[in-house]
Amino acid sequence: SSNGGAPPPPPRRRRVLLFPLPFQGHINPMLHLGDALHARGLAVTVLHTRLNAPDPALRRPEFRFVPVPDGVPRDVAASGDVIAIIGAMNAAMEAEGAAALRAVLLAVLADEAQPPAACIVFDANLLAVPAAAAVVGLRTLVLRTASAACFRCLAAYPMLHQRGYLPPQESKLYMPVEELPPLRVKDLFYSSLSNHDKMRGLLARGIEAVKSSSGLVINTFDALEAAELERISAELNVPMLLAPGPLHKLSKNSRSSTIIAWLDKMPSRSVLYVSFGSLASMDAGEFLEVAWGLANSGHRFLWVVRPDSVRGSSDGPAGLPDGFEAAVDDGRGKVIRWAPQQEVLAHRAVGGFWTHCGWNSTLESIGEGVPMICRPQFADQMMNTRYVVKVWGVGLELEGELERGRIERAVRKLMEGREGEEMRERAVELKEKVADCLKIGGSSQIAIDKLVNYIHSA
Ligand code: UDP
Repeated sequence: SSNGGAPPPPPRRRRVLLFPLPFQGHINPMLHLGDALHARGLAVTVLHTRLNAPDPALRRPEFRFVPVPDGVPRDVAASGDVIAIIGAMNAAMEAEGAAALRAVLLAVLADEAQPPAACIVFDANLLAVPAAAAVVGLRTLVLRTASAACFRCLAAYPMLHQRGYLPPQESKLYMPVEELPPLRVKDLFYSSLSNHDKMRGLLARGIEAVKSSSGLVINTFDALEAAELERISAELNVPMLLAPGPLHKLSKNSRSSTIIAWLDKMPSRSVLYVSFGSLASMDAGEFLEVAWGLANSGHRFLWVVRPDSVRGSSDGPAGLPDGFEAAVDDGRGKVIRWAPQQEVLAHRAVGGFWTHCGWNSTLESIGEGVPMICRPQFADQMMNTRYVVKVWGVGLELEGELERGRIERAVRKLMEGREGEEMRERAVELKEKVADCLKIGGSSQIAIDKLVNYIHSA
């Protein structure tokens, strides 16, 4: 037998339901949380929308996957506008007292082949869940896939409005937000958004959902955001606050790929990994500047260009400029459509990460001791950048217009400069803190213990 004659594992006595928001940066941490809970003996059922349904090939065979109607109209889904998609999804799911979602939950709970469900962990943005779960008698926990600082900032929005920081005014962008150091107005979540009133309403409901649930799980760890976590405990009435991150480090799920063989041939810390996450995009002119900035830097690079990375060319990656390949001599650069990012960042050949500073990417870089060039675009990316540069000192920001000369200088500064070396040293220190929190008795393990105990007691 596959377990070498060992006795069969004890039956799983409790089950946890997970419902992620259907975007990569939200699905990944939720599944990693599921991996951690499954490893502690719980059964896991994942609810998922049709929109961006997890690829069957990549699903965990040991989890159940159950579809939920999302009601997002095709044109909205195709727009790629995340805020509009979330809005449409919530509106449709909340319709008729969240009838469709309630029906799915009832069917899942009635499945006697599975152990009894203790609770549902849902993404903070899925506003239909609390009411539907209450009707079927299911306890709720909220997972926030952004930083503790981000949650604290969102919770402070009424105050930020009251005191005139928001809505953001052009003339005040560099003004420090004294109540939330080290943030400035331009670092606040919705400085990059236009529909402030709608956002304000959504955020207020999101905070209420957290307060009315049994607990809040944030994908961060004590040593990284101790002050922010303490403030959340002190300022908000959250029954149970858990920081079991970085969640990807609790998961053993890893994939190998041909790109790792390419990295194997490269000297240690010589490659700059370049990726702007699963959603951010640039225009064709910026794309050219990035290409030439990387080529002219003289450094090795691995650059992810998704098919929808360049605006206005959704049917395939924009062509690389003439002469680009010749300029990237010795095969020192590689352009790919998608990377096994955690494995890439963990590879000894990678010496830097040019990132948009999505929270997952930020945590993944910190977890491997890789310093960053930050190029934030929207949502929490600006505040993540601020923490990377000012609080943790593990990266530099590439500001202003994307221009090849500036890019080349930033790459050199990170990959060969003294400042870059100091950032790398601090990143390696943070990596050691991550290792500590993952050890038995470390803060992440203690948080998972608490969560497992809670689930068994439910
Ligand atoms: N990712 C990946 N390969 C890529 C680009 C991204 O595996 O080529 C993963 C990355 O590891 C991270 C997630 O996609 O877990 C992106 O999340 P993040 O919060 O960084 O950014 P978002 O995509 O939400 O803007």
